[in-house]
Order: sequence, then structure tokens, then C-alpha cells
Amino acid sequence: MNRNPSLRIYLQLAAAVFLGFWLSGCEVNSTNQNSDNDDRPNVVATSTIIQDLTEQVGGDEIELTGILQPGADPHVYEPVPADSQALEAADLILYNGYNLEPGLIKQMNAAGVNANKFAVGEVVTPLDFDYQGTKQPDPHVWGDAENGIKMVNSIRDQLIALSPEDEEEFNQNAARLTEELQQLDSWISQQIQTIPIQQRQLVTTHDAFQYYASAYGLQVTGTLIGMSTEEQPSARTIKSLADGIKATKVPAIFAETTINPDLIKTVAQEAGVKLAPEELYSDSIGAAGSDGDTYVKMLAANTRTIVEALGGDFTAFER
Ligand SMILES: [Zn+2]
Repeated sequence: MNRNPSLRIYLQLAAAVFLGFWLSGCEVNSTNQNSDNDDRPNVVATSTIIQDLTEQVGGDEIELTGILQPGADPHVYEPVPADSQALEAADLILYNGYNLEPGLIKQMNAAGVNANKFAVGEVVTPLDFDYQGTKQPDPHVWGDAENGIKMVNSIRDQLIALSPEDEEEFNQNAARLTEELQQLDSWISQQIQTIPIQQRQLVTTHDAFQYYASAYGLQVTGTLIGMSTEEQPSARTIKSLADGIKATKVPAIFAETTINPDLIKTVAQEAGVKLAPEELYSDSIGAAGSDGDTYVKMLAANTRTIVEALGGDFTAFER
């Protein structure tokens, strides 16, 4: 092929192509409407984490809409009219469940939403947390990469049920992602082990790291607020957390990307400890282009932030 056509030949070709399209305008339109893409099933994912996993498993075979934007807090998110439209147009809704996203779950169960609904996070046997004296399942299951694998497998099965002719592609995509998550899982364990034992302690803004801590050998020493980010910590809570931090001698505490960092900064100042320079990705992956813009990268970035702030010896994750 001639890679240097003269401008004149190029313009003639362009004109011919344009004329061709113009003459066959009606056929072009109808071809577009009948293209494969328009037959793709509509899948809606609530959280950015489920959106990322679904995108990687579903590839081009599904039309995917994510509702929450990177950095949005699922606990307090209130649906907007466009969300209702997306939910009503869906063939399948994949959500986290264990009440991570109460506003969206309520909207999803409203009249007019006829899609199949599947709680991806609820395939994981939950750890509990205490809420006003009762045990509730902790929704932050993705903190453990092995749970991520269970979520990937369940997404794969849901997509196969939705679009059986694409089974092979879904299987291949899920297998590739599972392998990456297995590697990530052992890498995180190795990284955390480089932190001196007495410093393997997490103090975070809200209680989102129970699964991560229990999978990788850290202790959640304290959180400023509990599971629900709606809580407003009192001055007394801030003081007692700061006192606890002084007593345990943790070298650093952590802010989170989905929550205003002002109060955890106050705690760090009162306790006289460092606030880690990077925020943790808690309930959302990072914005496109950030170091946490996929589920895998989110866990890897959090691990780096934790290992570096707590005095470990960090080595980058190699896929
Ligand atoms: Zn949360």
C-alpha cells in the first residue's frame, strides 16, 4: 500500500467515499441499526468496583452503564433521574448488596425496574460489624482479592446466563482476571509482611478495611466513624481515637478518597502522628488516569500507601 498518496489523490478518494455514503445513505443507516452492537444486552453496575470487574469480564459483548462515579460515596448516594432511566432500561443489574448502596437498592426495587438483579458482593460469606448492638454483614468484601475472584466468577455466570452465545469469551476474560487476582493476592501478603509486626495497624476514616486487614494480617486499630459514612463523629470520639493512636504508637493513619479528610487530619494532629501522604481508595476505584483506576490497581495502590506509611519495604506489583 502506498503510504504517501498525494493530497490530490487523497481528496479524490475522500470525495468518492463521501459520495458513496451519501448515495447509499438509507442503507448505511439501516446497517448501523442492525449491527451487532445494538443487540448487546444492557447491563447496569452500581459501584465502580463492580463496573470495572464487569467491564473486564463482559468486554465488547455487553452494553455496560455504571451508576456511581469514581470518588462518589455509595453509602449516602441519592439516585438522580438518569439513574432511574438506566435501571429501567437494564436487562441485568449487578449491585454490591449487604446494603452498601441503600439509595440505589431502594431505587432498583421501585416499580418499573424489571431487570434481573444480582448482588455480586453477597456471594462472599460476610464478616460482621456491630450496628447499635446487632450484627450486620460488612459490605466492603472487595478488600480481599480472593473475594474479588468470587465476585468475578459470579459476574461471569450472570453474563453467561444473559448471553449464552458469548460464554467462551466470558470464560476466557474471567480466567485471565482470576489469574491476575491470584498473583495480586500473594503479592499483597508479601508486601504487608515487610511491615514491622507491631506496626501492622490500620486507622482509617470509616470502617471499610476489615476484609483487607483480616486477609493480609493487619489489625484495624481504630476508625473515626463506623460503617455508615452518615455518622458525624463527636469531639469526644475524635479525642478518644487520638488517645488510642498515641497509646498504640502507630506511625501513620489514613484518609480515604470517598470521604472529606478534614476530621481525620484533626485526629492526626491531636495524636501527633503522620497522615499518610496518599489517600486510600475505600469504596470506589480512582478516576481514570489515577494509580487506582481499576480494581486491581486500587488494591495495589492501597497496598503501596499502607506499606510505605507503616514502615514496610515496598516492591511494585508486576503482572
Ligand atoms: Zn464504606
